Amino acid sequence: MAEHLIAGSKYTPEDGLTGAQLVTSGSGLTYNDFILLPGFINFTTDEVDLSSPLTKHISLKTPFVSSPMDTVTEANMAIAMALMGGIGILHHNCPPEFQASQARSVKKYKQGFIVDPVVLSPNKTVSDVYRIKQERGFCGIPVTDTGDVNGKLLGLIAARDIDLIGKDRSVTPVEEVMTPRRDLVIAHHGCSLDEANHILQESKKGKLPIVNENDELVALIARTDLKKSRDFPLASKDDLNRLRVGAAVSTHEEDKTRIEVLVAQDVDVVVLVDTTTDSSQGNSIYEMEMIHYIKKAYPELQVIGGNVVTAAQAKNLIDCGVDALRVGMGSGSICITQEVTAVGRPQGTAVYKVAEYARRFGVPVIADGGIQNVGHIVKALALGGSTVMMGSLLAGTNESPGEFFFQDGVRLKKYRGMGSLPAMEQKGSMARYFSDTDKLKVAQGVSGSVVDKGSVYGFIPYLYAGVQHGCQDIGARSLTQLRQMMYGGELKFERRSPSAQVEGGVHGLHSYEKRYY
Ligand code: 5GP
Repeated sequence: MAEHLIAGSKYTPEDGLTGAQLVTSGSGLTYNDFILLPGFINFTTDEVDLSSPLTKHISLKTPFVSSPMDTVTEANMAIAMALMGGIGILHHNCPPEFQASQARSVKKYKQGFIVDPVVLSPNKTVSDVYRIKQERGFCGIPVTDTGDVNGKLLGLIAARDIDLIGKDRSVTPVEEVMTPRRDLVIAHHGCSLDEANHILQESKKGKLPIVNENDELVALIARTDLKKSRDFPLASKDDLNRLRVGAAVSTHEEDKTRIEVLVAQDVDVVVLVDTTTDSSQGNSIYEMEMIHYIKKAYPELQVIGGNVVTAAQAKNLIDCGVDALRVGMGSGSICITQEVTAVGRPQGTAVYKVAEYARRFGVPVIADGGIQNVGHIVKALALGGSTVMMGSLLAGTNESPGEFFFQDGVRLKKYRGMGSLPAMEQKGSMARYFSDTDKLKVAQGVSGSVVDKGSVYGFIPYLYAGVQHGCQDIGARSLTQLRQMMYGGELKFERRSPSAQVEGGVHGLHSYEKRYY
């Protein structure tokens, strides 16, 4: 019978390529080179479950990870990522103590409670209060004997305490004008946010200091924050209900101390960055030794190894016991590794090859770098990635480190590769991309800027909803199902010619405005 006469439901038309066929069909592929074919929809986007493993023992409800870069992840970003169900990896281009203090801020974070408030000592002057008001936009500052959180609470200085003080601001000490401790409304350590809220409402004050049994300042609550507070049902939390956080560490011997101080702050996961081999090539004896060391010294600590782009590289690290692999070499937006070293791999092929091997051992894969839009996230997950790591997409947000600046009328933030010369020159980074004995620095990244993206609290929900839409079009109710469909051959891909790629973008318009959400 001629094929076109085959009738009824038994006939499933063959169309598209399986994941295996896609990546074995010749040259290396990256996200723009292919597209996913649609499946069947019998559920809403809201029903799509994006839970996915980060490591062997940690699962995330949102499969997004912020990159350990000094223009991407410090405590603010890590808190935001964890609240929205992902995780932030604190960069290590800083002294171990600073990185540990960032980890502590994440672990101590309680929604609505400011655990590292600006504090003054009693001998500071009214001028100092004005300076803080100008720089940080608020006043309502606790005063403690040490000038620090954990010091004994002596009072609180607010706008109305100082607005009538004239020229002797610089000589008037805050203790002369502050509201003293005996007149303050306070709450005790351990109170719930609801209780604190109630006390604030009753007292009609702007700030509520929280003190422990020794009357030492533990935290502060601001009325304005309470008004903004919202629920984060997807939040990534540890067994003690604290936000999860990760931290980058190098493979250098001296970073064993860094690991120790990070473990003391209960970081959930460390990400190994291979410093000794000069690049993001994680398949090295140095990294293998470090994995062995960590697994022996801290058996509970989850270790992410990498970066790798081949199954052979992955094998060595998996054999050493890594709990996840970071995949990507030369795919990052700021990266010049492939140009300088001629080594690397197109990211689509790299994610597929490593994930396809690592899954046999239950080792999840993080697709790291090269994510330019939400469609790339869907593609990375469809190729077997369990989570995605992003740098440039998150760099221009309010929560990334650094200040915004204007250039040609555009609001920008700095974004730089960790292997760029400026990043390498900064203290602490000297060992990442070239060995200590090298005379000549060979950069593997550039330094630049990205446009203002607003807050990650708006951006991540957009990415999350975008991935749900992608999964719905594919016909996958969850990321688990998406992977099953891919490995079972049900998920179909197709390569895109250069003109098909043009067709897939906006074209033929005189002008347009691209707004994503
Ligand atoms: P993006 O999301 O911006 O495309 O890529 C971020 C990723 O690029 C990071 O997670 C990291 O793996 C990689 N990366 C960061 N800095 C450098 C660098 O200076 N050189 C190279 N080769 N890769 C970098």
